[in-house]
Amino acid sequence: MSVRVERAIAAPEASRANWKPSAATRGLDRRLAPERVAGKAQLAIAREMQAVAMVKERADFEMVADGVYWLERAGVNCYLIRADDKLVLVDAGLPRTWTHLVSALRSFGATPADLDGVVLTHGHFDHVGMCERLAREHRVPIHVHPRDQELARHPYRYPHEASRLLYPVRYPKSIPILAGMAAGGALRIKGVDALPDVEPGVSLPVAGGLTPMWSPGHTRGHCGFHLGKMGILFSGDALVTLDPYTGRRGPRVVARAATADSTKALTMLDVYAATRATLVLPGHGAPYHGDVREAVEAARAAGVD
Ligand SMILES: [Zn+2]
Ligand SMILES: [Zn+2]
Repeated sequence: MSVRVERAIAAPEASRANWKPSAATRGLDRRLAPERVAGKAQLAIAREMQAVAMVKERADFEMVADGVYWLERAGVNCYLIRADDKLVLVDAGLPRTWTHLVSALRSFGATPADLDGVVLTHGHFDHVGMCERLAREHRVPIHVHPRDQELARHPYRYPHEASRLLYPVRYPKSIPILAGMAAGGALRIKGVDALPDVEPGVSLPVAGGLTPMWSPGHTRGHCGFHLGKMGILFSGDALVTLDPYTGRRGPRVVARAATADSTKALTMLDVYAATRATLVLPGHGAPYHGDVREAVEAARAAGVD
């Protein structure tokens, strides 16, 4: 059963009335107004940019499986697991995912200080957004694979196969997503000292066993997390259903703009297929309800952008 908690239910008018595009998106909106730019590509960009203003505020959180909550902001996901008297966050989204996290925790009488830990799929900026605050204000331990520890400290310094600059021009659908990420605080994320103790194959005592699945390619230390008892795979950015750099949807690996080794990324999907999970919860995009082997097949068919 899926329970959607709409903010609008509590205060429908207030919720709509309070929503405004951020100063950043308003500024960009003006600069990119169609009448102010010429050329087909720029017009496409302007239209996509204006779509930012129409993105409705979605629910703060949604339960996607028993005790598993999906928190999403600007296409960036993280997940809260509540089981066995433990509260664990898989990835830490953007700084402004904070309100979603607090809402979810409050719904069962908890606060950020009650979190037992954060496990990171990898150290990219859009997955460590709340880490520094959680560690500093609430002493929540952050865990990562040793090969991504340095990246978690410097979350913007990462190898990638292609320049990020050309993607918004080539893929205008990415612009509202990237602008939404910026509005969510993606441009000023602080790194964090994470414990390098995520060991592939060694289960953490959460919900009957949360097992790290090393899946390098997107980053060197990327790990998925398999909740075997529930048939759930937290796939991080090794297998997503929305690529922020192209705006393309459906199972896929993330574009070369943010991937260290896309050939390896495609090969390593075998690790995920072997879990035979039936619910895939990605780092970007909607949950994939179905056999992970089919998602892997679709990702390979989609190729790399
Ligand atoms: Zn990433
Ligand atoms: Zn990401």
